[in-house]
Parts: sequence; structure tokens; C-alpha cells
Amino acid sequence: MTSTYHIVLLPGDGIGPEVVAGTRRVLEELAPAFELAFRFETHLMGGCAIDASGRPLPEETLAACKQADAVLLGAVGGPKWSDPNAPVRPEQGLLALRKELGLYANLRPVRIFPQLRNASSLKPEVLEGVDLLVVRELTGGIYFGPREEGPDRSYDTMLYTRPEIERVVRVAARAARRRRKHLTSVDKANVLGVSRLWRRVTTEVMANEFPDVTLEHQLVDAMAMHLIRRPADFDVIVSGNLFGDILTDEAAMLAGSMGMLPSASLGEGTRGLYEPIHGSAPDIAGQGIANPLATILSAAMMLRHSFAQEAAAQAIEDAVARALAAGYRTPDLAAVAAADQTVEVVGTEAMVSVVCDFLHTD
Ligand code: NAD
Repeated sequence: MTSTYHIVLLPGDGIGPEVVAGTRRVLEELAPAFELAFRFETHLMGGCAIDASGRPLPEETLAACKQADAVLLGAVGGPKWSDPNAPVRPEQGLLALRKELGLYANLRPVRIFPQLRNASSLKPEVLEGVDLLVVRELTGGIYFGPREEGPDRSYDTMLYTRPEIERVVRVAARAARRRRKHLTSVDKANVLGVSRLWRRVTTEVMANEFPDVTLEHQLVDAMAMHLIRRPADFDVIVSGNLFGDILTDEAAMLAGSMGMLPSASLGEGTRGLYEPIHGSAPDIAGQGIANPLATILSAAMMLRHSFAQEAAAQAIEDAVARALAAGYRTPDLAAVAAADQTVEVVGTEAMVSVVCDFLHTD
């Protein structure tokens, strides 16, 4: 029986519309083989929404997202809307959307495709086998705690409650269960009381609900080193908002290229927001050369996390891996090909077509 999913597309600004259109094509190509049907609805968010309505997240966009099974976002922002004194900014739309949808867990997988190993500044042998997932708490911690700012005295407060920790740890542990069943929780428990609560609650949740998943604790300063020295040793990493913010960027750099990394933001229930981690790349917008793979891989995450369609998610990831193995590169990746590799430089649409073709090969 065909499973039907309602997806809201928010192409946004810059290269967003190009990479989202390509990803829609991949989903449509994939659907029949897995007995899936997608109902797409496109809405404005970001700079384009400010131009049309004066608001970065119009009411009708938010209402549509609340009705959807999942949301796929391109990117928002660009020089046209970057005046710091402007009354509204595109990024406000994204923050408001995450908050309105209650998306408290941000998932960023980092997988190194063998063909792109020399895109990273780390030695290729260190990157051998890297396949990790960082889960960052997104709506609590020091970014949202009580604060005060004055000319001579300011403070921000890292505040977490038991339920806030429990729910994000559960998201991470469920992901670990689908992967290599290893969870690393990152904190600063040798100094911070809030981290000692984090550690205690994490240990309890894991012992009571996920005895099949191995748990280890790391201090954030040590973790910053381990990620660079032995990244292949990690499976799922869970952390609070501030530490997670820093570690996700560090982990992203393992992969070297912005155009390859997907992300998901999840809350209660299965609805999620999926987006590439890169921005709207105004420098290349409209040229047909944007790398669509991060958005295509975000759609794979959507299939996995919102629709529980693991085989379909895997099919997309395999098709991307095959496209790279066959030597196809968008210009941002062309420069990082191995010396012994012949590559064919292609634009956005051609890369999408190649991925669609590889969906049908075993
Ligand atoms: P960016 O990620 O847009 O671009 C950085 C560099 O990477 C550029 O040279 C760009 O050409 C390249 N790049 C990024 N994605 C690419 C892709 N898919 N294919 C090929 N090359 C790619 O970051 P930026 O230049 O700092 O920001 C540009 C705008 O995007 C700003 O307005 C910023 O606020 C916004 N932004 C939005 C998001 C989001 O929507 N989630 C995230 C980051 C930045």
C-alpha cells in the first residue's frame, strides 16, 4: 500500500530554490520504487517573504508547516536583507519556525565520502571510517537562560531542567539504536552544576530506557581534541546548546565541504525541519552551479526520521555515494578530487539527474 506524505517546501533565498527544486526531483524519482507518494506545497520564508509580505515567516507559511508531515528548507538570507538596522531579518523566520514547531533537537550527521577525503584539512587516514551524528539541544541552555547585559556587568545563565535533558537524550539514544549503538554525552561536569545534572539524567535515561546502547561521558574540552584526533571512534554525540553549537561546527569541518552536510531539527512526534547546513550562497545564486547534495541528503534524513522509511533514505545516500564514486562533482567539489581521479564537473541540474539515475542501480 502506498504511503503518502505531505511535505512543505521552503526554498527561501539565493541558491535555496535551486537546491530544493533538485531535491524534489530526487524524491519524485524515488517514490514509485518504495511505494511512496509525496504531496508538495511551496511557501515563502526568509528574504523573499519579507519582500512579499514584510514578514520573514508569514502566518500562512507557519500554518502550512504545522499541518505538514515534514518541512524541507533551502536557505534564507542574503545581502539585500543584511542591514543590521533593518526592522526584520530573514534569520528571524528560521528561529521563529523552530520555536513554533517545538524543534528542540538538532541532528547533524557527518560522514566522509572516501572520494572527498582530501577536502578536509585533516590527514586522510584520520578520516578513514568517520560516520558520526551530533545531536545538539536547540531550545534551552545558556542561549535562553536568565540574562542581563550592562556596561560593566553582564551574565547569561546555563539552565537545564530534567525534562529538557531527558527528551534530547532520548532523540540521540533512538538514533544510536538505529546506528552502532554507542552514545557519547558531552558536558563540563568537573566544573558546572548544570553539567552534573545533565550527566546524572543522561545516565538514568540510558540505564532505564536504552540498556542496549553503550553510554560514555566526555568533558567538552577533551571532546574537542578527540574529534580531531580520532573522529572515527564516535557514533552519536549528544550535547547541550552551547557545547553542541561549537562541536557541530568542528565536526562539520571534518567533511571539509559545506555543500555536503545535511541537518534535521526534531521535536515531539515525527514532524521535522530538514535543511542543508550551508547558507544561501549569494555569490553563486542563479548560476546553476550550487551543490544540491546537502539538501538531497537532508531529504534522506526526512525519510529516515519523519517517515521511518529507512530503505528509501539509504537508497538516496547510496545514490549520492555512487555519483561521487563515478567522478561527478559540482564546482565547489571539483578542486578536491584525488590526484588519481578523473572527475566530470557538472552543474546543479546535471548532478540531480546523475543522482536520479543512480537511484536505479544496485
Ligand atoms: P554560505 O554557506 O551561504 O556560503 C559560504 C561559501 O560556501 C560561499 O562561497 C558559497 O558559495 C559556498 N557554498 C555554500 N553552499 C554551497 C553549495 N550548496 N554549493 C556550492 N557552494 C556553496 O555562508 P555565508 O556566505 O556566510 O552566508 C550567506 C547568506 O546565507 C547570509 O545571508 C547568511 O545569513 C545566510 N545563512 C543562512 C543559513 C540558513 O538558512 N540556515 C545558514 C547560514 C548562512
